[in-house]
Amino acid sequence: MNILFVASECAPFIKTGGLADVIGAVPKALKPLGGNVRILLPAYPALSGEVAKGTEVAAFDDLHGGPARVMAVTARGLDLLLLDAPHLFDRPGNIYLDHAGGDWHDNHLRFGALSFVGAQIALGLIPDWQPDLVNAHDWQAGLVPAYLHAAGSQVPTVMTIHNIAFQGIYDPDHLDGLNLPRDMFTVDKGEYYGRFSFLKAGLMLATKITTVSPTYAHELMSPEFGMGLDGVMRARRADLSGIINGIDLDVWDPETDDTIPQVFTAKTLTKKAKNKAALEERFNLDPSDSPIFCIISRLTTQKGLDLLLDRLPNIVNQGARLAILGTGDKGMEHGFADAANRYTGKVGTIIGYDEQLSHLMQAGSDAILIPSRFEPCGLTQLYGLRYGTIPVVARTGGLADTIIDANLAAIDADVATGIQFHPVTAIGLEQAVARTMALYQQPKVWAAMQRRAMRQPVGWDASAAAYLALFQSLTD
Ligand code: ADP
Repeated sequence: MNILFVASECAPFIKTGGLADVIGAVPKALKPLGGNVRILLPAYPALSGEVAKGTEVAAFDDLHGGPARVMAVTARGLDLLLLDAPHLFDRPGNIYLDHAGGDWHDNHLRFGALSFVGAQIALGLIPDWQPDLVNAHDWQAGLVPAYLHAAGSQVPTVMTIHNIAFQGIYDPDHLDGLNLPRDMFTVDKGEYYGRFSFLKAGLMLATKITTVSPTYAHELMSPEFGMGLDGVMRARRADLSGIINGIDLDVWDPETDDTIPQVFTAKTLTKKAKNKAALEERFNLDPSDSPIFCIISRLTTQKGLDLLLDRLPNIVNQGARLAILGTGDKGMEHGFADAANRYTGKVGTIIGYDEQLSHLMQAGSDAILIPSRFEPCGLTQLYGLRYGTIPVVARTGGLADTIIDANLAAIDADVATGIQFHPVTAIGLEQAVARTMALYQQPKVWAAMQRRAMRQPVGWDASAAAYLALFQSLTD
């Protein structure tokens, strides 16, 4: 089966969050099952090397204001189709944001072009490769189903929601230049309270909708989590499913991870200590017997890290040490940097994005804190499981689906893999840390939980099979 992915990020080439990890991993998992995926990606500067190695398979004289071409290349085990349109994608800095931190002024044209080209490929643009189906990811690919609908195409489409908070909403006059028919601006398609939503258009017009965990699929139908699209999700309930994300075990496995000081397995857990020592040094933490909780995250209110700042003094007083890596909200960046100054040796903060350091943190920490207000799937708790770093999580979305809370019954039944808390409040978080500290004081219980966590099936096998079954149901 030929499957076209259309997405704005793909690890290891270009990543701002979990979307990239998923796009980089699913194709590899689908391949042995007979799913032949090609990924259409914008050719950002980070991909210029791959563009140079590629073969031109299509060209446009004028794609939303300039010439463009599609370059095919296989790199790092992935079959890429790179949309080389310098006027849209060849610019330095963040792929979504300008230097002032606002959206690029022409994001609608940039990702409208990506979606348009995705639809053209489904319509037969590329010689010798006809997709049987298109999987469009997040709002940046939301117009793929719209262009295909406008062309009267029968090629099935799956719209995947990685985070419904980002919707691509624009004033109607921004539609000029996107080459979409006027009837796209109706309530049963892309119109959204007088504006135009890329994601809504995709959700209304795709054949099927998936999201990245069963609990998030359910939550999306409620006003609390649907972010204004809960009505759309309820209307399309029969076509909506949740398939939990996995992790790429070629990249995230403590037994083979060549970025960490000491590899280890569930049988050689004590070797984790060497990574912990390296982590203490990197974050300027005083060596001690107390557990280290790490945070590897965008610093946003979605991630609930304001709750952590709120209770940080009490959490440190409980004896916990914290290692924080992240970027985002400037107030939070300052808050965590201040905390590192105030609690020298107990709290370490590194503001920035550092993939390699994130591996050391998973390898060397005792626990990972994820107090998200909502979390479509979440990947860092899955990495935590794999590295025997106990996830302490809010009970929401994919966090609820992947962690089994260490209540007494779960410990007795030998199934606990982490700590969950609800409601998601500052006090709830503080109490969850207290429960974690108490479990840590029982070395046998703690080590058994770490080993159990490490045995969880967090790879892509089951979920890749679920995607393939869905795709097959649309193409048979
Ligand atoms: P989201 O996509 O909402 O940001 P996920 O948990 O799904 O959250 O995925 C986040 C991904 O980004 C993970 O792979 C995580 O390790 C990584 N990440 C987040 N912040 C940083 C950072 N500051 N440095 C390195 N990796 C980070």
